[in-house]
Amino acid sequence: MQLAKLLFLYMCKFSGLFFLSSCICRKKLQILCYHGLSFDDEHNFQPKLSMQPHKFRKRMIFLKEKGFEVLALQEGLAILTDGKIKKRSVVITFDDGFHNFFTLAKPILMEFGFPSTVYVTSYYVKHGNPVFRLAVRYMFWKSRKKKNEIFADIPCMTLFGFEKEDTEKEIMWKLIEYAENYMDEENRRRLSEFLGKKMGISFQDIDRRGLWHLMTPNEIEAIARSGVDVQLHTHRHRFPLDANIAKQEIEENRAVLEPIVGKKMRHFCYPSGVWNKTHWKALKEAGCYSATTCESRMNSAKTPLLALGRFLDAEDIPQIEFEAEIYGFKDLLRYIFRFSKKGTRSVE
Ligand SMILES: [Zn+2]
Repeated sequence: MQLAKLLFLYMCKFSGLFFLSSCICRKKLQILCYHGLSFDDEHNFQPKLSMQPHKFRKRMIFLKEKGFEVLALQEGLAILTDGKIKKRSVVITFDDGFHNFFTLAKPILMEFGFPSTVYVTSYYVKHGNPVFRLAVRYMFWKSRKKKNEIFADIPCMTLFGFEKEDTEKEIMWKLIEYAENYMDEENRRRLSEFLGKKMGISFQDIDRRGLWHLMTPNEIEAIARSGVDVQLHTHRHRFPLDANIAKQEIEENRAVLEPIVGKKMRHFCYPSGVWNKTHWKALKEAGCYSATTCESRMNSAKTPLLALGRFLDAEDIPQIEFEAEIYGFKDLLRYIFRFSKKGTRSVE
């Protein structure tokens, strides 16, 4: 199926349909979304979260060679709303603010002179530990030990609500949820070290190498000074429908980040891309001008600024699919598909 899809895309590209779609979509803005680049094997663990640096570099070479205009978010939105986009334009964004943005992605972006926006979630910036749920999931993925070897002779395991028939994955999630709901940061760190020992993985090594770490305040300050646009992504990576909690998340996020970057932040990214129109009131009251989703679609002058589409580029996206998105061909296919579905419904 995947092969058939790729063959179809190659045929469309070589028959000129990518070029045609880029002409049709020339007044639209493509926003690219990345999460992080991998130091080691993180892209095998979570291909949507980590991409190999050489693959990301190849994407940047493509943008440069094909003459795409890479714009800063604010500038891109300004010319989009004014209807002044003249050529194929792209905005590059990174979510979460991983440490690897500072060490791996920023040098590549600087090499090409491309502006970028990083949406930073601030809880782990403040606490300086690897993101708990990612570090634990990574250790479970990496460990070759079986469930019985890991959990044998741990007396307090009943505390987490385990049942005998639970799979390893169910146990992992129960552990994560318990620790996130009932433990403080210090005990979560102790638990990570303990689990690492039981699984034969060094948590200290993960920590020392900066895997699953977010940027430190000094690193955020440095990227902001070098021109990277740092923006909002909530404090705890959650954005419930409850307007008070949602606003509090933005306020706490601002309280950590704005003193570091020294500017008022007005752009927001929905955590995990989950959004609802109900959020818009809270976003407006919190002074947010734009908000990005993870829905693959290009943006036109009519797109609501609080529901901007983005293409989530990742390790598991083949180059031809990336090209189909960036030239607007996939956008066109989605439009045709929606249109044909509407047509079918009206006939029914
Ligand atoms: Zn995120």
